[in-house]
Amino acid sequence: MTIDNYKFAGKKAIVRVDFNVPLDENGKITDDTRIRGALPTLKKILADGGALIIMSHMGKPKGKVNPKFSLAQIKDAVAAALGTDVQFAPDCAKAADAAAALKPGEVLLLENLRFYPEEEGKPVGIDKEDPAYEAAKKEMKESQKAFAKTLASYADCYVNDAFGTAHRKHASTAVIADNFDADNKMLGYLMEKEVNAVDAILSDIKRPFTAIMGGSKVSTKIGIIENLMDKVDNLILCGGMTYTFAKAQGGKIGLSICEDDKLDLALDIMKKAAEKGVNLVLGTDCVAGDKFSNDANTQIASVMDIPEGWEGMDAGPETQKAFADAIKGAKTILWNGPAGVFEFDTFAVGSKAVADAIVEATANGAFSLVGGGDSVACVNKFGLADKVSYVSTGGGALLEAIEGKVLPGIAAIKG
Ligand code: AMP
Repeated sequence: MTIDNYKFAGKKAIVRVDFNVPLDENGKITDDTRIRGALPTLKKILADGGALIIMSHMGKPKGKVNPKFSLAQIKDAVAAALGTDVQFAPDCAKAADAAAALKPGEVLLLENLRFYPEEEGKPVGIDKEDPAYEAAKKEMKESQKAFAKTLASYADCYVNDAFGTAHRKHASTAVIADNFDADNKMLGYLMEKEVNAVDAILSDIKRPFTAIMGGSKVSTKIGIIENLMDKVDNLILCGGMTYTFAKAQGGKIGLSICEDDKLDLALDIMKKAAEKGVNLVLGTDCVAGDKFSNDANTQIASVMDIPEGWEGMDAGPETQKAFADAIKGAKTILWNGPAGVFEFDTFAVGSKAVADAIVEATANGAFSLVGGGDSVACVNKFGLADKVSYVSTGGGALLEAIEGKVLPGIAAIKG
């Protein structure tokens, strides 16, 4: 079923959204991107005459009630965004009466799903090494099914619009779907958009395809790097990873971030790229700092020869040009992870150069997907989010999808 084909009139829809928005110390929302992201789906259901039961997690309350993570804090913001009143169910597993009383056009927001350990389905208070762990896990899986069934009982249909948690097999993201037949469960608009964007990167590739992988470590990106190796024409590896590659090739990297146990892996990636004919673009020069701070002294150094006591914190000018060259001619672009410590303006220049090149390629007709936590913060920092083709809301989910893994949240609906 699709959200456009379903007849919501007179029906109750339970919708899993990702309202895990950042709050300041007074409980005020500091970035409402995720709420805005879910609006098309929520508004469509209301406009069609359906009633809405909205469910989400917030933060990591680890299966316990914790007011710090209460969704009551965002109720008014959700109401303002929807332009209608929102009722609140202070216990997500005891909302049957409130749900039953909902009339067409009305909205009920459930309290944080993760106040119940059943949402994530992991046994609490028992160590993985404990001999009783397996039995506890089995028992928890059963409680998780029951919890999901309770949530499902509130509604006639289920909509999953939470891409950020689609890689998790949680009660509300996947298990719940077993309680609805194929005609009564569907992806929301945001999910559909995310799935299509990943599809454009994985199956509908216009060449050349340039992927830019940055961030701090090789180890957290290795799955995706290996998967991309079979697909891309140009692979830019930047950010903190640069120095693991430089050291692996015998470079002197000073205090730069490095994974000493990944030196062989780095050489292996270089070998594989050569074998597969992938143009691997690594940093050659860097902006080094004498301390990890925005007001560090800086100098341009070769990544192979960084002075003692200094660390590579951003891509140097020669590297920025090489990156831009590999990006500007591309027709498909994926960017995950900054090219330097972009949080410090002094070291944000390399990431800005990457972002500018992506914007230019996009203006020339390329499809560009930016996703995964920090690169989104990067394009937002530079005010360029609306100048790339698609900014994904998913961090881990996006990376797993691009690694080619099946996401449980999508599989639960699409089979
Ligand atoms: P990740 O979460 O792995 O995508 O890494 C993102 C983080 O990598 C950001 O917080 C950056 O500040 C950091 N990063 C990027 N380049 C460097 C670098 N040269 N040295 C240390 N950290 C870096």
